Amino acid sequence: MVLKEQKVSKTVKRTILLNPGPSTTTETVKASLIQDDICHREEEFAQIVRGICDDLVKVVHGKSDYSAVLFAGSGTIIIDVALNSLVPDGKKVLVLNNGAYSQRGVDVCKYFRIPVIDMKIDILDTPDLALVEKTLKENPDIAVVFTAHQETGTGLLNPIREIGALSRKYKAIFVTDSTSTYGVMPMNVYDDNIDFCMASSQKGLNAFTGLSFIVGKTSEIEKTKDYQARSYYTNLWRQYDFFKKNKQMHFTPPVQIMYSLAQALKEHFAEGEQAKWKRFRDGYKVIREEMAKLGFKDILPEDKQTGLVVGILNPKDPNFDFNKIHDYLYEKGVTIYPGKIADLETFRVCNLGSLGPDDIRDAFKVLTDALKACGVALPVKY
Ligand SMILES: *Cc1c(COP(=O)(O)O)cnc(C)c1O
Repeated sequence: MVLKEQKVSKTVKRTILLNPGPSTTTETVKASLIQDDICHREEEFAQIVRGICDDLVKVVHGKSDYSAVLFAGSGTIIIDVALNSLVPDGKKVLVLNNGAYSQRGVDVCKYFRIPVIDMKIDILDTPDLALVEKTLKENPDIAVVFTAHQETGTGLLNPIREIGALSRKYKAIFVTDSTSTYGVMPMNVYDDNIDFCMASSQKGLNAFTGLSFIVGKTSEIEKTKDYQARSYYTNLWRQYDFFKKNKQMHFTPPVQIMYSLAQALKEHFAEGEQAKWKRFRDGYKVIREEMAKLGFKDILPEDKQTGLVVGILNPKDPNFDFNKIHDYLYEKGVTIYPGKIADLETFRVCNLGSLGPDDIRDAFKVLTDALKACGVALPVKY
């Protein structure tokens, strides 16, 4: 089946989403949702799914020794899949915990009663690699090391290549939650020592929400065949094995979302990894310029940021009310997002969607108007 090129109705608005997913989609991705009715068991549809799997491995430069396994659900389903499926009984997980998403890894382990070493790290800092090595050396029963690539709550970039190398040195599987970097920041499973990475259709690939995936080393998936399964639905081996044998997904996939993902992947490759990354770097430059004009301060030093999520400290101005500013922007087709840090008042501007530097500039124009309308003194004060 070939996706039909459809047109988007004039009443469908394109909004500037500066939240951490779902991200702004292109018109062609929006339109791709509408296709002929089909049962997902038809070979024509299964071909689309297989094409998606191949493309998802290609995005991170994997070859035939890597596989993509799909699940219907939001991104968190893959944290659940990875941690409940890759750890044999009696072994542990090491989580390098410097934010809300690595904390989610700790929580998932606890729900499955999987022993976990929760290495707490300052949320504004990357892991101490010497301490990671010491922990791996002293705990030979660590089967999996888990870290977020980008902590989406703060925009912190973790050194996955170094963490992956250490994990491999101590024979642990390296799993990175790359949900907010995959398809945006160039990544290579071989160079970056990634055994497993993951993401969702609605983040850097700019499709719609409902399909999430893990890309990992096939040999490591196959090793889990005889592990005691902890979940019926979110078990990596079961999902992989069914797909391998039957060439289609085990349970009903989100059919229309798959169309949008197939279209989004086509657009990803057409734009090209480097050109796409440059677009986001250019967007980040605009964010920096505009923040400087308004006097906004970052929560992180620039050299620790991905540039894809910028955490901004709320100014100390009695008229600065995030909800009011959010609502003003929302009315004008721009969405900003609150921060996710326990004791810091922050908000986030995310640079993840099908947006260019001009969109970001437009969004800051509206933000400037919103601040003025709310009576916030400019440049802002701390
Ligand atoms: C978005 C995101 C997730 C998944 O969140 P959902 O709300 O379940 O889609 C997981 N990890 C990271 C790092 C994310 O940015």
